[in-house]
Amino acid sequence: MSVLRDFAEQLGSGRIRVVDLTAPLRDSTPILQLPPPFGNTVPFQLEEISRYDDRGPAWYWNNIHTGEHTGTHLDAPVHWVTGKDGHSVADIPPAELIAPASVLDFAGKAQADPDFLLRVSDVEAWEAEHGTVGGWFLYRTGWDARSGSQDAFLNADENGPHTPGIAADCVAWLLAERTIVGIGVETVGTDAGAAHSSDPPFPCHGALAGSGRYGLTQLQNLAELPPTGAVVIATGLPIVGGSGSPARVLGLVEP
Ligand code: MN
Repeated sequence: MSVLRDFAEQLGSGRIRVVDLTAPLRDSTPILQLPPPFGNTVPFQLEEISRYDDRGPAWYWNNIHTGEHTGTHLDAPVHWVTGKDGHSVADIPPAELIAPASVLDFAGKAQADPDFLLRVSDVEAWEAEHGTVGGWFLYRTGWDARSGSQDAFLNADENGPHTPGIAADCVAWLLAERTIVGIGVETVGTDAGAAHSSDPPFPCHGALAGSGRYGLTQLQNLAELPPTGAVVIATGLPIVGGSGSPARVLGLVEP
């Protein structure tokens, strides 16, 4: 029995379903907005080269303008100063990007409190029901429902953005006490909107990169994954020296 042939047959027979966890990439795809004096990424943009016209009579193609951290994307360790000697996105061992997923659904709490932070006790309560977390740690907050609107997605007021995240001690605990490939979220970044003023600031970015682990952002359709049992494939482009890449992220589930 060939494992891969068996796998392909199961895919073809519908006994494995593929869930696209990727946000469509278009000019209106929400992007991070940092306050001055910080630099910002460009929105995604298509620049037409030809479309069956005198620039190319039989073919249609575009140049794309994008940041590495636009839409659903992968954060490489080198993205953050704590991982500056770590892997760029091109250096990530590809086998690490395919892993089982633990899917923790806290959409109810995040709906009640947009600044909700996941705590160790929340993860322990989930583990009591589903077993130890591992592989891709995917944190569902229901934030994907807002992805059609930059304003709703960033949810900012005069004090900055309000989006859910993971408490600093919880992310440190996850990386020290559990074996995870990385953390995937539905929001614009792995950290909470208010993480600029947490202690330390941006704890998820700092801890993930410092541990050589990966971030996945702006995921959608996590509601279609079971708490355990799915396998997630996260791809990014091998941009040489790149700090991240737009990604296509797929979840394989047994219906
Ligand atoms: Mn990023």
